[in-house]
Amino acid sequence: MNCSQCNQPIEPERIDLGFTRCKGCAFDRPEPKVKGAMTYHHKTAGSLNVMAPESYDHFKKLSRRVGQRSTLRNVLHSGGRLV
Ligand SMILES: [Zn+2]
Repeated sequence: MNCSQCNQPIEPERIDLGFTRCKGCAFDRPEPKVKGAMTYHHKTAGSLNVMAPESYDHFKKLSRRVGQRSTLRNVLHSGGRLV
């Protein structure tokens, strides 16, 4: 079996593990990993949201909390302050 990117033979151990790219390609251009974040729709029993890296960055930008500041300030115009 050959690599899906460089068309060179893949190491047999990697084929056994189900990989389709050779070690060189995998280390040169790693695939972005999915990430997860806890969300709470109720007081208890949070759930894990698995999302793409871009979605995770956006989620963290909106849900980031600094000190006692409300997370609503992350989505309001001018941070919720009057201009
Ligand atoms: Zn390759």
